[in-house]
Amino acid sequence: MRMLLILIALAIIVAVARHLWLQPRRKDPRRRQLSGKMAQCSHCGMYIPEQEALRDGDRCYCSQEHLDAGRGGE
Ligand SMILES: [Zn+2]
Repeated sequence: MRMLLILIALAIIVAVARHLWLQPRRKDPRRRQLSGKMAQCSHCGMYIPEQEALRDGDRCYCSQEHLDAGRGGE
């Protein structure tokens, strides 16, 4: 009986450890990629990761609103 409790406790510890171990790993490569190239929003000047930037020709925007504002403002 005691052995069973130890096994259950171990299984829980392994599950929690795996969960904690996998979370930062999943985020890391993405963060590194995103921090590589930055684009500046042509409307507000905010810097955003190039992959998340909305492109309109050679201009970049941080959001759909700013893309629309940038287009309409000219
Ligand atoms: Zn913006």
